[in-house]
Amino acid sequence: MYEFRYVRPQSVAEAAAVLAANGDARLMSGGMTLLPTMKQRLAQASHLVHVGVLDELRQIARDGDTLVIGSATTHDAVANSDVVRTAIPVLAKLAGGIGDPQVRYMGTIGGSIANNDPAADYPAAVLGLGATVITDRREIAADDFFQGMFSTALEDGEIVLKVSFPVPRRAAYVKFPHPATGYAMSGVLVAETGSGVRVAVTGAGNGVFRWTQAEAALAGSMSAAALSGLPLDLARFAQDIHATREYRAQLCRVMAARAVGELPA
Ligand SMILES: Cc1cc2nc3c(=O)[nH]c(=O)nc-3n(C[C@H](O)[C@H](O)[C@H](O)COP(=O)(O)OP(=O)(O)OC[C@H]3O[C@@H](n4cnc5c(N)ncnc54)[C@H](O)[C@@H]3O)c2cc1C
Repeated sequence: MYEFRYVRPQSVAEAAAVLAANGDARLMSGGMTLLPTMKQRLAQASHLVHVGVLDELRQIARDGDTLVIGSATTHDAVANSDVVRTAIPVLAKLAGGIGDPQVRYMGTIGGSIANNDPAADYPAAVLGLGATVITDRREIAADDFFQGMFSTALEDGEIVLKVSFPVPRRAAYVKFPHPATGYAMSGVLVAETGSGVRVAVTGAGNGVFRWTQAEAALAGSMSAAALSGLPLDLARFAQDIHATREYRAQLCRVMAARAVGELPA
């Protein structure tokens, strides 16, 4: 690990000021991804600005048809929140299925979406539920936020403050987890929202994406049968030592059908 200065800010404004004054400063939420990459010298920072300690970023609140989760909220807190379980139960289930207890206790929603690992679970929820990412500079619709493998719309020094989820009519998420890490080999979130059916796929390609053909089919008939024979663009699917793209595409079909089967009545 290269030498760096640890900064424990008292506020988002202080964190933003440190970032503005130091071009090589990095934000840290739970450190679950950032610290291992720094230890391997794959990442470097002049200052590590630990926004994960800020209470103002750890709030969960429901306001009518919207659920807002602070960026430093851990997966464990989301999984065990009665507010989340009541408003959007699929989010609690998804968070409870991330990694292992240690990862869930330190990992956060803000760090997960800012990192945008192509196999992470939260991107499927944020995109599939049509959420909005709120930063210290602007609001970014999920459809614009995720821009491919480890890439997002965030600018240098931009801080994710919270994620605002519209409460869906119903939603379900099913993933085929990698047995070693729990990351999705393929994970599909199906949601009936106020603006129609949304289907988001993670783990299968170079980043989370919407399966628009499935959305159209399920809008006509919300049944697993409606998905049978639907086209899937194989070029969107990743191929690596874990699986061929054909296998991932098949997993995507199966996970989508299971998610439809798990939708609450
Ligand atoms: C063994 C293991 C298993 C895992 N399994 C899963 C799994 O099954 N599913 C899954 O989805 N994830 C999994 N993860 C990832 C985990 O869920 C974490 O969310 C992820 O590692 C990010 O960690 P973090 O939240 O601590 O963010 P950090 O590591 O602190 O930060 C990650 C990135 O986000 C940036 N960042 C942090 N906070 C902000 C902010 N507020 N605004 C802007 N940028 C910010 C940082 O600068 C850094 O680039 C696993 C991780 C490990 C180590």
